[in-house]
Amino acid sequence: MGGEWRSAASGATREIIDPVDAGVFAVVSEGGVTDTDDAVAAARAAFDEGSWPRTPVAERAALLRRVAALLERDREKIGALESRDAGKTLEEGRVDVDCVRDAFVYFADLVMNESGGRVVDAGSDEIHSVVVHEPVGVCALITPWNYPLLQASWKIAPALAAGNTFVIKPSEITPLTTVALIGLLMEAGLPQGAANIVTGPGATVGARLVEHPDVDLVSFTGGLASGTKVARAAADTVKKVALELGGKNPNVVFADACATEEGFDTAVDQALNAAFIHSGQVCSAGSRLIVEESLRERFVAELARRAAKIRLGRGTDPGVECGPLVSARQLARTEDFVASALAEGAVLRTGGERPEGPGYFYRPTVLDRCDRRMRVVREEVFGPVLTVETFRTEDEAVTLANDTEYGLAGAVWTSDAVRARRVAGRLRHGTVWINDFHPYLPQAEWGGFGKSGIGRELGPTGLAEYREAKHIYQNLAPRPVRWFAG
Ligand code: NAD
Repeated sequence: MGGEWRSAASGATREIIDPVDAGVFAVVSEGGVTDTDDAVAAARAAFDEGSWPRTPVAERAALLRRVAALLERDREKIGALESRDAGKTLEEGRVDVDCVRDAFVYFADLVMNESGGRVVDAGSDEIHSVVVHEPVGVCALITPWNYPLLQASWKIAPALAAGNTFVIKPSEITPLTTVALIGLLMEAGLPQGAANIVTGPGATVGARLVEHPDVDLVSFTGGLASGTKVARAAADTVKKVALELGGKNPNVVFADACATEEGFDTAVDQALNAAFIHSGQVCSAGSRLIVEESLRERFVAELARRAAKIRLGRGTDPGVECGPLVSARQLARTEDFVASALAEGAVLRTGGERPEGPGYFYRPTVLDRCDRRMRVVREEVFGPVLTVETFRTEDEAVTLANDTEYGLAGAVWTSDAVRARRVAGRLRHGTVWINDFHPYLPQAEWGGFGKSGIGRELGPTGLAEYREAKHIYQNLAPRPVRWFAG
């Protein structure tokens, strides 16, 4: 913090666990309230007195591009670290680093294009009226464990582009790549105190950031329960709050999408990808398959056959397609959800157990004959568990797809282009894919309807979150108004 690396004031440390074998592979400082207060003070001083908020936009954009180049240089190292810390395959770790780089490049370009003020016509040549954008101030950035570096970049890049300073608190179980990224920001020449990180738990470090009177904005990505606490705590100091929460994302498959062998193969393949990539620990995971009744048996049989063949293991081993769950807690939670689904009448088509051996692995699981009242259909599992529901009509498909308190993402598969657009228009989700699943673009907003959150990341809105609009109204020919006669 404040441009130097420090141990926690208390001297406390935390062991970082490799989810593949449950062994310790790193030790980090376990920060607390004192460390958080020091980091906020450093960010506050850097905002109020430092150079970063006053640095010309072109120089800020240039720094972001230097960070992108450093990420390119360290792609293998950081990709491997992300793979080990979060339990994802090496290739996923590398792709994550590429996406992080793209976020930095995108916000560098965007802030250059959107740096000018907007002149407003005040209806008189004697008035000059302009709306300009200024940084919000000190930002608290709180991130989860499933995409530690990617989620950090969606906050850090726009926050810095807009001229803010920040304190980031990564998930306590996956802090390593965020620490590495802060190192790259320093190497790229970011002024001291503009970027600060405190590693430590949500209940202490996170909660203190949210309540801290010197923090102006909180951007939080995580679960619904924690997000609700954050919103409540931030209200006392009327902070700006952005929340990116969970999802229970429908993947709606119409029979016409599978009329050809190629169409069938594609829809099954993508349903597999939607549900099981990163062992389902994805906020936009397609964890609810909603398939047309006439297609169900054929589709689910093929899906289960392929799911059973997914190769689990260490993400760096050749041929491994899926890693473990991130923690013992996440594994126990997944087991509990599957047990409750079976007790409620779901039919197990594959998976439903952990493989032999160490680590937090769980077999990709397909639960057939689910219905919307089951807990496994309503709540986010965040594990490799796919539920299957069926529909007969388009209206029924839309009703099922929207029957969730969340609204992050969803997909519709059909060969009927008119129906595709009609259904997409009716889905109450922040992202809708037609004949695809999972892609996102840095230039398109990401976020959710309903309890999936407040605000958007990425796209122009993702920059706007970190800016205050200021209207400057200049009277070029002032004279008395004589409202008061005396
Ligand atoms: P979590 O809510 O347990 O923790 C998220 C972060 O918040 C962690 O850094 C944690 O330490 C911190 N935290 C916890 N309690 C806090 C509190 N009271 N005050 C301040 N900070 C607190 O979530 P998780 O288990 O790390 O991540 C999984 C969740 O994240 C899932 O629900 C997933 O859907 C969601 N997620 C959403 C998106 C999105 O873009 N919408 C992306 C990734 C993950």
